[in-house]
Amino acid sequence: MTVSNNNQHDVVDLIKTQLSITDVVSKYVDLKGNSRLMKGLCPFYPENTPSFVIYPESQIFKCYCGSCAGTSGGDIFSFIMRIENINFVEALNMCAELAGVKLNKYQPKKAKSIKKDLTHALESATDFFKNSLNSRYGLPASNYLKDRGFSEKHIKEYNFGLSPTGLSTLVDHLKKVGVKSNSAVESGLVQKWADNTWHDFFVDRLIIEIRDEDNNLVGFGGRSLNNKTPKYINTPQTELFNKSELLFGLNLAKKDILKSKECVIVEGYMDVFAAHSEGFNNVVACMGTSLTFNQLNKAKKYADKIILCLDSDIAGKRASVNNLIKLINSHDNLSHIHKSIYIASIDSGKDPDDLIRQDPSEWEKVISEGTPLYKHLINNLDLVYDLTDNNQINDAANVVYKLVFQNTDSHSQDQTLSLLSTKLNINREKLPTPKILNRNLSPKPISNKTNGKQNP
Ligand SMILES: [Zn+2]
Repeated sequence: MTVSNNNQHDVVDLIKTQLSITDVVSKYVDLKGNSRLMKGLCPFYPENTPSFVIYPESQIFKCYCGSCAGTSGGDIFSFIMRIENINFVEALNMCAELAGVKLNKYQPKKAKSIKKDLTHALESATDFFKNSLNSRYGLPASNYLKDRGFSEKHIKEYNFGLSPTGLSTLVDHLKKVGVKSNSAVESGLVQKWADNTWHDFFVDRLIIEIRDEDNNLVGFGGRSLNNKTPKYINTPQTELFNKSELLFGLNLAKKDILKSKECVIVEGYMDVFAAHSEGFNNVVACMGTSLTFNQLNKAKKYADKIILCLDSDIAGKRASVNNLIKLINSHDNLSHIHKSIYIASIDSGKDPDDLIRQDPSEWEKVISEGTPLYKHLINNLDLVYDLTDNNQINDAANVVYKLVFQNTDSHSQDQTLSLLSTKLNINREKLPTPKILNRNLSPKPISNKTNGKQNP
């Protein structure tokens, strides 16, 4: 249903009738209790006995822990504002989405018309790319796709395209169909060179449409067809394209993720296409090696369980553990969702793309045997930290504390400490003492070399 937010009270009431506070909060807190009262650990401060209370009948929460001291409480919106650290309008939009209520989001007229122009440019470009792939010049690219296992049907269905070899063929086409030159530039399709000439951004590449979760075309990915580096490029950051907030394929995968409550995140578009071709429809890509907090949050919106299946050779693993540590250190809220995150590793070192096509049942096994994030982190601390150095041991232990200690019961804390003491080869009693939980610790990587892969 769509409502205009002329009357915010109506919207707030409508969302409250559609969304129970218990459902929303239980995405962040383990709740136990009955229809009158639910209890869990305070999600805002560390504590060992549950003082955080939900009153489902009146749809409010209140926290009685020592740190909150009764000052935390309110409705769904105040909870989301506090836990996500966002303002009321953002919380309203987030809850509306969870409730399936469509808001006519307020946008200044100017921004709206700029977006319309950019969309027009992108839509014109995608037609052009698809026609190029279907022309006789597109034969090598079509053959490449067929070699990679795509059927004729899938090539059409996934809207592949081709950017020709000429330096300004798209520039000319966009002019012809009436796209304004500044829209062509601002949509990331065209670049102005220093000599004031206009050039295509994508030249001689297989083109992949990138759509947001609502199926709006926002940009493109381009794969080199002649071993030119980088192998993959994306539309640069634009008004419509913000890579760090997008999960590639979510528009196609959304329904299945909601149904299965599981979301698998891989690195590249080709992995997503391979998965979907084989019927694994809950797979999306973070488009590169550095998964972001926003991407995780986006997945969490639809799924209870997020399985990361990233590069599994040592260099790739080190890069991804490093990235996870960065996420833990810069986002306190990661501790709220860490229990939903699992890491799946392909031991054979194959790309998901290859494994899915060659051995779908092995892929299923890999995904179902994912390791919880905290275990994966502990197991791989030595990829990032020098565990013979006391300072680094201290930092390593504190990253684990930061991830695990803010929102878990004493039982899982106990398990974590055992695992950590085994990994660090230090007696439980002698483990480093936790620093202040919200202090940023920067990892000191032994080496941060990636395996030379570009983007996905
Ligand atoms: Zn509290």
